[in-house]
Amino acid sequence: MILHDKFGRQITDLRISITDRCNFRCVYCRSADPENYRDHDEILSWPELDRLARIFLSLGIRKVRITGGEPLVREGVEEYIARLHALGVEDLSMTTNGHLLAERCERLIKSGLRRINISLDSLDRAKFEKITRTKSFATVMGGIDAAQNSRLAPAKINAVLVRGINDDEVEAFAGFARERGVIMRFIEFMPLDADRQWNRGLVVPAAEIHGRIHARWPLLQIPHERSETARKYRFADGAPGEIGLIAPVTQPFCGHCSRIRLTADGKLRTCLFSKEDHDLRALLREGASDEDMVTYIRSVVMEKEEGHRINAPDFVPPSRTMVFIGG
Ligand code: SAM
Ligand code: SF4
Repeated sequence: MILHDKFGRQITDLRISITDRCNFRCVYCRSADPENYRDHDEILSWPELDRLARIFLSLGIRKVRITGGEPLVREGVEEYIARLHALGVEDLSMTTNGHLLAERCERLIKSGLRRINISLDSLDRAKFEKITRTKSFATVMGGIDAAQNSRLAPAKINAVLVRGINDDEVEAFAGFARERGVIMRFIEFMPLDADRQWNRGLVVPAAEIHGRIHARWPLLQIPHERSETARKYRFADGAPGEIGLIAPVTQPFCGHCSRIRLTADGKLRTCLFSKEDHDLRALLREGASDEDMVTYIRSVVMEKEEGHRINAPDFVPPSRTMVFIGG
């Protein structure tokens, strides 16, 4: 059985947010602030997450990314990854802030994790610590080293650039990719910030980032799959590392989207920017059968939005912020 929408897109990728908790308090992601935490019983339990994973796999999901909040703060994440691996997920990855990665790397790999994305919004210690409101720069760099020295290499390093905050670091990040052999990915800032400070002027367009790096170190494009969000480049001089540009605002890639999202509180979302979410937790807790769940999920996915409409004149940002939309 496969999942598809009314535009004929097959849905093969699921992002699962396993917690709303976080050990960082990034300025643009205030939904992770402790005062906004949900009660424990609002968050899906491991048995609920296991059951949903089985159902989604039976519907043709092949790629799973674990996210949060910060996924490494939830006790039992390695065991969950091992169960997903045993269920036969072909491509199992995680997005983390990297703070707990050095100490957990080996366990994660043993559980079946094969790919990792680590968020790093600045290479400048003071700026990084200001953005994340932590003292964790050295720990995160240690997490990146651990990943690079393991079979998770090459790690993907994700930076969200915000004009006037870290857009002066484009070349430094590209240099970091060359030195460390990581895949350095630049993500355009999206209107998902808790503070509603987003405006178009804060977005650093992918074309500008490409131009700046290319002027310093010429880039060659690498072919990518249609549903992939990143345009990928290697360095023409043969240096290690790779550059990825993710341009949801200036070059939307919705036409080939193959993703859906499950939030920590059990809502199914068909787009980061969905106006509605669909309550799988309620169905689970009301005793729905697997068949009922499948029918409901198929009907929700059928209605997946054609695109995100960030650039439409009447665009309204979603009321849920990043942590509760399964970033
Ligand atoms: N805690 C983990 C981390 O920081 O990697 C996983 C969850 S976090 C919400 C996932 C990613 O979303 C991070 O890379 C973060 O930078 C990104 N993000 C958060 N708010 C964003 C926004 N408004 N626009 C673009 N990316 C955003
Ligand atoms: Fe935590 Fe990630 Fe949000 Fe930062 S972006 S507060 S690390 S969930």
